[in-house]
Amino acid sequence: PILLALETSCDESAVAIVTRQNDTTTVLSSLIISQVAEHSQWGGVVPEIASRRHLEAIPVLIAQAFAQAKCNFHHLSGIAATVTPGLSGSLLVGSITARTLARLHRLPFIGIHHIEGHLSSIQLGDSLPCYPFLVLLVSGGHTELIRVNCTGSYVKLGRSHDDAVGEAFDKVARLLKLPYPGGPSIQRIARSGDGSRFILPKGRISLANGGFHPYDFSFSGLKTSILRVIQELQRKNFTVPKADIAASFEQTVAELLVERTCKCAIDQKLSSIVLVGGVAANRRLRALMEKSATNKGLKTYLAPLEYCTDNAAMIGVAGLDKLEKFPKGSPTHISVVARLDLKSISSLYNKEAEF
Ligand code: ATP
Ligand code: MG
Ligand code: FE
Repeated sequence: PILLALETSCDESAVAIVTRQNDTTTVLSSLIISQVAEHSQWGGVVPEIASRRHLEAIPVLIAQAFAQAKCNFHHLSGIAATVTPGLSGSLLVGSITARTLARLHRLPFIGIHHIEGHLSSIQLGDSLPCYPFLVLLVSGGHTELIRVNCTGSYVKLGRSHDDAVGEAFDKVARLLKLPYPGGPSIQRIARSGDGSRFILPKGRISLANGGFHPYDFSFSGLKTSILRVIQELQRKNFTVPKADIAASFEQTVAELLVERTCKCAIDQKLSSIVLVGGVAANRRLRALMEKSATNKGLKTYLAPLEYCTDNAAMIGVAGLDKLEKFPKGSPTHISVVARLDLKSISSLYNKEAEF
C-alpha cells in the first residue's frame, strides 16, 4: 500500500508519501514547512496565523510530494492525517483536506493520534524492536514511559507532573536568552560547556507512603534552580557561563531520563528501550541511553534523527498500521479534538471502522 499523510497539529506543515512492501516501510517523500521563525517574533504559536499558513502550505507540499515520489492519487491506498491532539484550527486544515481528497478519490481516510505517530517513527529506523518494549516519549508536550504490548496496545507507566521535557528545554533556553526552539539551541551551545559544573536537582514525585514514584518526572524545580543560578551570578556581577549552564542542564536531564527508563525496563522485565519524540534528537541523551542501557544488557532503538521532531512520515507509518487492521479507514465519528489520550483513540477505532 501507498499512503499520503498530512501533519498540521501545531506549527509545522508536513506532507509525506510512504509505502510498505513485505514488511519493509519506505518513505518516498517527506516535506516540512516550519512556521517557527514567524511565530517566534510573537513569543509563541499564534493559532490564527498557524491555521492560515497550513492552508497555504499544504496544497503546495502535496504537489511537491507527489512529484518527488513520482506518483499520483491513482497509486494511493488511503490518506492519513493527524486528528488529535493539537490546535483545533490547525488540525482542521489537515483533517478536512485529507477527508475531502479521500472522498473525491474514493479512498479510505485514516485519522491518526499525533503521539501514535511519534511512536511509529521507530519503524523508520534500521532495525525494529520486538514486542513488548518500553518507549520513552520525550517531546514538546509529552514526557512518558509507555509499555507497548503490540500496535495499538499501550500502558502508561510514567509521566511528568508539570513541564514536558521539551518545554523545559524551551524555557531554560529563554532564561539563557537563546533562540527558540530551545532544544537545538541548548544542544549547540552545550557542546563547548562543562556539564559537571552545576549540580542540579533531578526532580522526583513524592508518594503518600514516603519515598518517590519510581518512574514519574518533574522539571519545574530544575528550571527554577537554573533561574536561581543565573540570578545569583548576575547579583555578583559575574558573566553568566551559558555554555556550562546549558551543558549541566542537558547532562542532568539525560541522566534522570536514562536512569528512570532503565529502572522501569528492568522492573517490568522489558529488554528493549525505544526513544522517540522531538527531544530524542538530543545527542547527549541518545549517547547516554545507548551506553547505559547496553551496560545493563538492554537493547536500545533510537528514532532516526530526521523523524524525531514533527513530520508527516511518522503519521504515514501509523496510518499503514491502522489500514492493515481497518481496511475501510477511521470510523466517521472521529473528528478533530484538541486533547485526547492514546487509549481513547484505540477504543474509537475498535468500535466499528466504517467510512
Ligand atoms: P507533542 O509531540 O508532545 O505534541 P510537539 O509536537 O510540539 O509536542 P515535537 O515536535 O515532537 O513536539 O518536539 C519539539 C520539542 O523538541 C521542542 O520542545 C524542542 O525544543 C525539542 N527538541 C528538538 N530538538 C532537540 C534537541 N536536539 N535537544 C533537545 N530538545 C530538542
Ligand atoms: Mg512543533
Ligand atoms: Fe510532536
